Amino acid sequence: MQRQDLLQIAETYGAPVYVYDAGKIQSQFNRLTAAFSSVGRLKLNYAAKALSNLSILRLMNQLGSGLDTVSIQEVQLGLMAGFRPEDIIYTPNGVSLEEIEQAAAMGVRINIDNLSILEQFGSKHPDIPVCIRINPHVMAGGNSKISVGHIDSKFGISIHQIPHLLRIVELTRMKINGIHMHTGSDILDIDVFLYASEILFETAMHFKDLNFIDFGSGFKVPYKEGDIQTNVEELGEKLGGRFNAFCKAYGQELELAFEPGKFLVSEAGYFLTRVNVVKQTTSTVFAGVDSGFNHLIRPMLYGSSHEIINLSNPEGKERYYSVVGYICETDTFASNRRIGEIAEGDILCFRNAGAYCFTMASNYNSRYRPAEVLWKDGRAQLIRKRETFEDLIRNQVEADLSPASEMTHREVK
Ligand SMILES: *Cc1c(COP(=O)(O)O)cnc(C)c1O
Repeated sequence: MQRQDLLQIAETYGAPVYVYDAGKIQSQFNRLTAAFSSVGRLKLNYAAKALSNLSILRLMNQLGSGLDTVSIQEVQLGLMAGFRPEDIIYTPNGVSLEEIEQAAAMGVRINIDNLSILEQFGSKHPDIPVCIRINPHVMAGGNSKISVGHIDSKFGISIHQIPHLLRIVELTRMKINGIHMHTGSDILDIDVFLYASEILFETAMHFKDLNFIDFGSGFKVPYKEGDIQTNVEELGEKLGGRFNAFCKAYGQELELAFEPGKFLVSEAGYFLTRVNVVKQTTSTVFAGVDSGFNHLIRPMLYGSSHEIINLSNPEGKERYYSVVGYICETDTFASNRRIGEIAEGDILCFRNAGAYCFTMASNYNSRYRPAEVLWKDGRAQLIRKRETFEDLIRNQVEADLSPASEMTHREVK
């Protein structure tokens, strides 16, 4: 996307606004598909929670993607967007048996990640095949906030519980159609990932009814210059080879599935904000924008670094800024950042704003969630309206604040 296109969108739809480039989503999808071309049956299930606007889900469906969902509501969104139930996998954590049964009734693939629910589900519905989420206890990346395969993680069934798992499957006569892992959000070290995969292959040998093996996600994308990213081509070559060898040993060509979220949508997203105030203090220059962690919480929640560009002054002399929001909390987007000289009214663009940005937005400080715009084939389309005051009060019910009478008081007692 060009700078002028983004500026035009901010002009037309106002700020703050999220913009998603469909072309970038498609090229990421194609890149991952090409990397695994050695695999006969590849399935990419887009992780809906990264960016769940219906138009984005419909685009993913059009590209030939499946859908990875973590709640019954995401399943509903997927069905509404046109995905066939069999192209949706439901991978929740910590949900009730009832919700899993609801998803099963909708015909989607079920993934269970603990033995208690597995035993109950298997006893009640031995005919509905399920996938199991395994925790291989492999640490992916170094940030413990996003590593979910290690020993203290709440995700998955430990590989050390395989004997108990096998007993449940045998006694309930349930069918296991898939083996799944999702070790964390960053695959930096391909050898570590391959090591976890070997554990998955070993586990898979215990089950005779498999249809697929799901390696989750964790593809890392660059956020700033010099960032390491997952080499998907190398991963495709190495894992593809091992997967094909495994299928031979297993005696059947299985499906290789992934659930990329960030990889598909992060770089496709731009978040445009307007500068309300430039505030010089004794120690820094703040650029205060018309947003905050109510719209983009990743820098404050994960310490993630989003590149910030002054769209209004691209050739401007660079100066050091602290970019902050308008929320009554410390909501620093970036400190000591060199940005083209900023004036009040300028449009600042946050890059990598496609994944876990809008979907984590809130109404804190009673602010509206921003609009969303899709950029496709040189055309901008509004795909979510900016909220209004109506949205803030929609579900509020007025309480009766008149003093309670003696009578009611006694009744309550
Ligand atoms: C969040 C999630 C993903 C997507 O992870 P990314 O890092 O965004 O690619 C995939 N699978 C499961 C089970 C998840 O919870």
